[in-house]
Amino acid sequence: MDVRKPVSRRRFVGGVATALGALGLRPEGDLFAQGGQGRRNAQPTSDEYDAFAKLANNENNYGPPKSVMDAMTSVWRYSNRYGYPDGGIVQAIAAHHGVKPENVLLGAGSGEILQVVGLTYLHGNKKVVGCDPTYATVYQTASGIKAEAIKIPLNKDYSQNIPAMIEAANKNASSVGLFYLVNPNNPTGMIIPAKDVDLAVKSVPKDMPILIDEAYHHFVESPEYATSVPYVLEGRPVIVARTFSKIAALAGMRLGYAIAPAEVIQKMRAYSISSINALVKHGGVASLKDTAGQADMKAKINGTKKKYVQMLEAHGYPVIPSDANFFMVSLGGREVQPVIEEFRAKGVLVGRPFPPMTQHLRVSVGLPEEMDRFIQGFKEIFPQKKASTMAGQQ
Ligand code: PLP
Repeated sequence: MDVRKPVSRRRFVGGVATALGALGLRPEGDLFAQGGQGRRNAQPTSDEYDAFAKLANNENNYGPPKSVMDAMTSVWRYSNRYGYPDGGIVQAIAAHHGVKPENVLLGAGSGEILQVVGLTYLHGNKKVVGCDPTYATVYQTASGIKAEAIKIPLNKDYSQNIPAMIEAANKNASSVGLFYLVNPNNPTGMIIPAKDVDLAVKSVPKDMPILIDEAYHHFVESPEYATSVPYVLEGRPVIVARTFSKIAALAGMRLGYAIAPAEVIQKMRAYSISSINALVKHGGVASLKDTAGQADMKAKINGTKKKYVQMLEAHGYPVIPSDANFFMVSLGGREVQPVIEEFRAKGVLVGRPFPPMTQHLRVSVGLPEEMDRFIQGFKEIFPQKKASTMAGQQ
């Protein structure tokens, strides 16, 4: 079963016109915003939704691979059950990482894991130390419970300023409840090299919980990157968050998980309230098994990313080096919000502003035909300039 729906040109044009009316380009929020952010009541119809090239939310536009679809399809028969064979999802995740089932906590997406970690470690006015800009859920959870965030700006080259984050964690040690790293980072797509993660893990106070968000782990190609799961095996208070939303294309099905020491998982459990549906548990197991399918997905998405990054740079607009399924392109001094609106008018949804990087546009890597629509739109909006890369600018 292919979840990608072909959309005819007529349906596309009509759909976009209607959808723009529905969207209204209103400032109150992004209709298709990522989990929990900027939701609006007016939802588009399926046709309106399908008509857009959706490059705004770092989704996987290929849809789940056949192995995952087959596994999910085969368990519809459990949809009327409370107790059903769950495919051994917790055991499968534990075996995949070489940890025990008590080191695993499932969440309705890794977004729930981030919230649970925030609730577990930030109550009582504790602070979270992290970079800025980054994925906002932990900071939003913090402000929801009146905890504070110490946000350290990115370096000039958009990498995370690990020494400054370590310094902030140590200076405020008595009030810091959580140290947060996103690797690779969202919205930039940049990795934190393994040596810098190691420095952070070993330089903050020994008992300080460290959340390492590896949502985009599966797309990384840089040899400087490493997963942080081994720190959990060492018994450090490290929580690694992973998701099936990206590589397995299951964002709408909601499954993520945490890997952490058993006593940390135990504390987090008290705040975890979502139940996970039968289908995605089986889909998750199938995805973990399907290493060839994962490799194929990674190759397709990274190959497409490289091709369109090169086109943008040849057009004169440098792109921040990304190891994720999205990238950020410099707009040559233009503010991003009106550019997002111009793209919408062309039927292409691209990322929202990420202050203070408001002269960069985040683009999720879609299907080649969607990327063609994007690059065509980009060339209509932005004039050709002298070819330019990020490295060339520094
Ligand atoms: N972490 C990062 C860095 C993300 O970008 C996202 C979503 O885009 C998430 C976590 C949450 O994803 P999900 O809840 O679908 O697992």
